[in-house]
Amino acid sequence: MVEEQLRTRGITSQSVLEAMRKVPRHCFVPSAFRDEAYGDHPLPIGLGQTISQPYIVGLMTELLQLKPDDTVLEIGTGSGYQAAVLSLLVKKVYSIEILPQLASQASRRLDTLGYKNVTVKTGDGNEGWSEHAPYNAIIVTAAAPRIPPALIEQLARGGRMCIPVDKGAFVQQLTVLTKGLDGSISERPVIPVAFVPLKEAHDIKKERNIQDSEKHQ
Ligand code: SAH
Repeated sequence: MVEEQLRTRGITSQSVLEAMRKVPRHCFVPSAFRDEAYGDHPLPIGLGQTISQPYIVGLMTELLQLKPDDTVLEIGTGSGYQAAVLSLLVKKVYSIEILPQLASQASRRLDTLGYKNVTVKTGDGNEGWSEHAPYNAIIVTAAAPRIPPALIEQLARGGRMCIPVDKGAFVQQLTVLTKGLDGSISERPVIPVAFVPLKEAHDIKKERNIQDSEKHQ
């Protein structure tokens, strides 16, 4: 996986390649997909969500230019795989997942596998996690029509954010946002990507209402 999918496509950071070699991806996918865990594609993880393609995980991790003392915020814990890769490269990873079932599964899995510097909570990533801000890096693994302002605010000066931005018409652009030491913001598009959508507060309310009305039928 690392040689054929990552190195040949231009991922050069030794520490990122090493971290991706170490994390057992097959432990993060449902047992029905174990055989395909190292394939060159995303896989379903239940509840309509996916674990990203290995190359995209490697690329986003490299784009963050992480340092060992960094604190990172991830939005969209999913299976916990991306969080595990990050945890080998930095001091502390905070990760937010909106679906309680995925959050508790990922948290248990990360704990069992020994990734002790990751803390997962259930919540809406659009709001970030102000308690532990500022973050040296922020990674969003679901696509948003605009970069959530709370995340820009919680990014440290000199920090980077990697996020797929939904441009409409089925086009998403992986984007790197940089906050300069003077607080100035710049954005750079990287490549077109395909992520599941970042849910907004009104989506969540709508889903809860549907579930409630189904319960009462
Ligand atoms: N990084 C994950 C893949 C995540 S898929 C991995 O390595 O497996 C995107 C995840 O974002 C899904 O689990 C989805 O439930 C979650 N998500 C969607 N909207 C969200 C929101 N507003 N806040 C937090 N998580 C969200």
